[in-house]
Amino acid sequence: MFPVPRPDLNSLPAYKAGQKLAATDGQKVFKLSSNENPYAPLPEVVEAITNAALEINRYPDPFNSALIDTLAAEVGVQPENIAVGTGSVAVLGHLFQAMCAPGEAVIFPWRSFEAYPIWAQIQITESIAVPVWPDGSLDLETMAASITEHTRMILICTPNNPTGTVVKTMDLHNFMRQVPDNVLVIIDEAYAEFVTDDDAVNGMEFFNIYGNVAVIRTLSKAQGLAGLRVGYMVAQPEIVDYVRRVSIPFGVSNLAQAAAVAALQPAAKAKMQERVNAIVAERERVEAAVRKTGIDLPSMQANFVWIPTNRAEELKAACESVGVAVRQFPEGVRITIAEPEANDRIIEVLSAFQL
Ligand code: PMP
Repeated sequence: MFPVPRPDLNSLPAYKAGQKLAATDGQKVFKLSSNENPYAPLPEVVEAITNAALEINRYPDPFNSALIDTLAAEVGVQPENIAVGTGSVAVLGHLFQAMCAPGEAVIFPWRSFEAYPIWAQIQITESIAVPVWPDGSLDLETMAASITEHTRMILICTPNNPTGTVVKTMDLHNFMRQVPDNVLVIIDEAYAEFVTDDDAVNGMEFFNIYGNVAVIRTLSKAQGLAGLRVGYMVAQPEIVDYVRRVSIPFGVSNLAQAAAVAALQPAAKAKMQERVNAIVAERERVEAAVRKTGIDLPSMQANFVWIPTNRAEELKAACESVGVAVRQFPEGVRITIAEPEANDRIIEVLSAFQL
């Protein structure tokens, strides 16, 4: 006899991190497989980390006070409306723990962020995965029709990872009218800063209207702090309280807290916005070039483009052959918008590729 881990976790899908390519023949390679920010950290962020490093013999502030106050001011809520975690993926896991008892159910779009079914299975929560429409947008009608007395949470990923489409404000208001007050609707806005569509959902607007909405955001993407792991949730104080109760103590390091606060100061935010604008301009350039080749793309609103194809493996290989790592899914390929040189290579590959 030996200690046996839970057999129900044998079927747990592994979280697939985006791959890196090794440079061959001196060719420059690019990693467009993890929706990362291609820009190096801002000097003021590096300085904040350097200063915080002098105190790593101490535990970080367990209440994350400076970070939480900064985030609360950022989104216009009270500190008791904010919970933080080691990336929004951790906050999401804490929400599953805080909200879902075994046997209850969570509804989410599919394909969407791969952590949703993983957290559900770990928490022994039933996953109701509702297929997205062929253009990658969420099927809110079927999601609403899937609500039962077991439903505890509904995940709305906008822009949706990996399809890049957004949920429209009017459509989400219609949806909210069909959701009972005791079901939590989580708006996962990891890519909020890259949205340019005026009709797209703004999570905070919904949080301010509906008592059963929580918003999840991250500093990994627009602020470029993926390596430090800082994400947060905006929710009603009761939910925040329970999420904090299940969170790992001292999870967000003092380096991460200091960097996040520095990244949210006005001058740093202005620079972040310039970078986001540049990425959005590149996204639009890639989209336009791809559409010119006859590939019919829906409007993409995050820092990546989604190419639906049943030749995903071949497309991934074609991108790799020009030194660009991308993320392959069964239904298509997701390509992060990155340095112009990398984007040029992607345009070249897609121009020559038969989907
Ligand atoms: N939500 C979505 C939709 C994402 O795509 C990601 C990252 N891939 C996350 C949450 C988690 O990001 P992080 O843990 O870095 O905050």
